[in-house]
Amino acid sequence: MTKLSTDLQKKLVALTRDLILIPSDESRPDDIDRCFEFIINHLESLDSIVIKKHYHCGIASLVVLPKNIDHPKVLLCGHLDVITHSNTHSYRSQVTDGKIIGPGAGDMKGPLAVLLEVFMNLHAKYDDLSFGLAITSDEERGGDAGMRFLFDEIGLRCDVALVPDGGSLNEITVEEKGIVHLKIQCNGHSAHAARPWLGNNPLERLVDAVSRLRKSFDSLKEGIDHWHPTCALTILKTSNQTVNCTPSEAEATLDIRFPAPYTVDQILNHICNILGDEIDTHTIMSAEATRFTPDPLYLSVSEEITGKPTLQKKEDGGSDARFIGHHNIPVIVSRPIVGELHSLDEWIDISSMETFYHIYERYLERKLL
Ligand SMILES: [Zn+2]
Repeated sequence: MTKLSTDLQKKLVALTRDLILIPSDESRPDDIDRCFEFIINHLESLDSIVIKKHYHCGIASLVVLPKNIDHPKVLLCGHLDVITHSNTHSYRSQVTDGKIIGPGAGDMKGPLAVLLEVFMNLHAKYDDLSFGLAITSDEERGGDAGMRFLFDEIGLRCDVALVPDGGSLNEITVEEKGIVHLKIQCNGHSAHAARPWLGNNPLERLVDAVSRLRKSFDSLKEGIDHWHPTCALTILKTSNQTVNCTPSEAEATLDIRFPAPYTVDQILNHICNILGDEIDTHTIMSAEATRFTPDPLYLSVSEEITGKPTLQKKEDGGSDARFIGHHNIPVIVSRPIVGELHSLDEWIDISSMETFYHIYERYLERKLL
């Protein structure tokens, strides 16, 4: 059993554990609603703010701003959705070895608890602080109806955004790879497998094409930090169920990641050239690679509070931060110490949550007062 040393730790742990109990994943929209209600109930105790819920394609987001401010200087951004675990009883947590362990503890119910706590406390302490809060519910499925919608279509803007969904306590993410999720398909006609020359086997042609792709992406490898384009085959299937029959269609999905200066168009052209005319492609989702410019004040506050230098890191995965950076808004991506993300044993380190709270608090006070 972990002894919690401060009231702040107790509060952050209780709030995180309450959030983990709500299985707010995409397969349970009622629980996503319940999680929003839980958060709104907390926020409603503040008089000085306006809470607005937005919907796009049935997916909800929350924007909380001080009265009379629609362009806050700082915007805290988070998401309440977690990835799906099939068993509802998995959504619980335990506190051991100074960590909260449970699904979503690190990504990002623990960081969300810090956002809520710092938002509530600073708005209660000072009048007219120009900072807001945006919480979405579709980050784990791409963020299109959440953060992208808020910035591209609602026109939400801020001077700086804080997104605690990447990096670590002393590691600020300054670059994220771009993403292409691609479905590829091939058609042919089936035959008895004893006479394959009578058919035209699309599965074999698809497999050949994928292996051409692999060779090509292998040739782009450079350095030891994998900061080059990668292409992973994630699904390969055919509707054929018969062992002695060749299929008439085959389909695969690819997950491609690439750093700047590569662009989505360049990557798609490259892939289409290698696949050739016989393979149809369909882009499921794409996002450009992003570079962020963190606020120097944030870096110095982090170093002051932790007593350690800050490292600027590149991230292989993408986050909602790209939708904000896209509008040339400085984004700061860092978070408490977390691990085992997306597993049932996901964890967040409790004392790093407290340190992270103090970094946010001091940065916001310096920036806004
Ligand atoms: Zn996340």
